[in-house]
Amino acid sequence: MRSITAKISILVLITVLSSGVCFSQTATTFDRVEPAFWWVGMKNHELQILFYHHNADLSKHEVSLSYPGVTLLQKINVENPHYLFLKLDVSASAKAGTVAIQFKAGKKTFTYNYELKNKSTAPNRIQGFNSSDVVYLIMPDRFANGDAKNDTLPGFFQGTHREKPFGRHGGDLKGISDHLDYIKNLGVTALWLNPVLENNQKRESYHGYAITDLYKVDARFGSNEEYLTLINKSHQSGMKVIQDMVMNHIGNEHWLVKDAPEKDWIHHFPTYTSSNYRGGLISDPYRSKADSVLMVNGWFDTTMPDVNQSNPLFAQYLIQNSLWWIEYAGIDGIRMDTYPYPDKYFMARWAKALTDEYPQFGLVGEVWIPSVAQTAYWQKGAKNTDGYESNLPSVTDFTFCFAVPRALNENGGWDTGLTRLYDLLSHDFQYPNANNNLTFLDNHDMTRFFLTVGKDLAKFKMGLSFLMTARGIPEIYYGTEILMDGDASSHPQVRRDYPGGWPGDASDLFNPKNGTPDQLEARAFITKLLNWRKSKPVIHSGKITHFIPKDNVYVYFRTLGNEMVMVIMNGNANENVLNTQRFQELLKGKVRAKNVITDEVIPSLDAIKVPARTALILELE
Ligand code: CA
Repeated sequence: MRSITAKISILVLITVLSSGVCFSQTATTFDRVEPAFWWVGMKNHELQILFYHHNADLSKHEVSLSYPGVTLLQKINVENPHYLFLKLDVSASAKAGTVAIQFKAGKKTFTYNYELKNKSTAPNRIQGFNSSDVVYLIMPDRFANGDAKNDTLPGFFQGTHREKPFGRHGGDLKGISDHLDYIKNLGVTALWLNPVLENNQKRESYHGYAITDLYKVDARFGSNEEYLTLINKSHQSGMKVIQDMVMNHIGNEHWLVKDAPEKDWIHHFPTYTSSNYRGGLISDPYRSKADSVLMVNGWFDTTMPDVNQSNPLFAQYLIQNSLWWIEYAGIDGIRMDTYPYPDKYFMARWAKALTDEYPQFGLVGEVWIPSVAQTAYWQKGAKNTDGYESNLPSVTDFTFCFAVPRALNENGGWDTGLTRLYDLLSHDFQYPNANNNLTFLDNHDMTRFFLTVGKDLAKFKMGLSFLMTARGIPEIYYGTEILMDGDASSHPQVRRDYPGGWPGDASDLFNPKNGTPDQLEARAFITKLLNWRKSKPVIHSGKITHFIPKDNVYVYFRTLGNEMVMVIMNGNANENVLNTQRFQELLKGKVRAKNVITDEVIPSLDAIKVPARTALILELE
């Protein structure tokens, strides 16, 4: 006991000597106040504010405030005296302004001015996203370096080393902003950026999934203000913005990890314990407790501590953080990482809180499970036998992603080749709304599609055709349009720099005139397909009717009112002349068709020639 007291005395002495100021147990300012400001006019009136000072004892402070329409509901002290939480009621009558919060400890008092702003009343500010969109996924560090000044900054563990595959390469928000016209011209209507929030980690900080400040854009990407500028510019270009978020884990360099408010904000184990990564377990009626605990509480990675969303203060912190970004930045949607890994009841509350406040807002959860039933479990409206309701409108459709290359690479058969696509869609009855699924052929974690189909341009175009004409919200990964390849056995291989994004690059493929003949063909194909799709409600929401594939030829229709699109996929290495007798229930009354890619008119529908390894997309008249 004595030795402990002695150590504390020495610590105080050192503090006094080193800081040159009198050591104080009470605060006169804070290192962190989060959220830094809030809004009046929110439907949910409760506001929780975190106050933090790294060496002050906040447990001794009495707190008071007097502001019309705002009530202090609760002051909460936690294990760590460096923290203080306040719960406020910001009623409907409260007006925007500065709330003077008085802190008193003994005879010392000071005032913290907390700002309440007006919630935006701009109509249709938050747009959400749906099957009328095509989402373009960008890894910001690897797309374009628009500002070399932010490449290496003081206070950050990592600077820019473009030669290192796992290092930061210097891409940033300015780089994306500079190329919005290029992206828009492809026919894209929404951007999904891998996380842009601060990742001040000692290694592999470029991907963004180890967040160290949930309220701040990584300065190496730009500032919060630059993020706002990018979003506004995207909106002006007719493109929505989807923010990538993570609730399952944070970076081990996060200040909330280094000086945690309460020990149970993070799941701790005697030694490093990883998740078992079994997303399907959550809906497994026979799961064991041991497996369940590992799945949800185990760490995703050694540098990514697992967040305990069951802690009510942290839960509220996380929900408010998402609301803050929506209101602050006007983002249209969130793509939530590792959806089955956090406390699922928390995730359901999170999704409900966001969509209650912003009914238009779009939410998609990353559910990386190769099973329709186990994926459908997570979609809003699923009739789950355990009663679970996720409130999550969209799920990632990995089953779709896995089916397409197999369908294109295999020979046709009873259950192989293009029958896999028929089979895929035939399972859609399990989804409450399959048309809200995020569909894709690859992403930042997966082998690029062009490589998956053996760098075969014909198969590539077939896959894209299916993606853009089947149900769902299609996503394409940056560089797909120029046939970027790469094997996901090493992540940086699928996260290469976009050519032309860096000054001095050997080629500039942001210039649509540049590229190999295959690259030009792929980009022209995608540009034509996406721009056509943009204005086709029949593709966005038309009814699907499909026919059992025969001789590895798969035919499906989309119909809406008088509009009809027929897609014929020929998976064979030779031309097929399709007898259309089987399809009369739909073709009746239709006399001709137009190929949407070539604009060629097909004057008779009795027999349609389909070239080898081709998907014909036909508008019927
Ligand atoms: Ca930069």
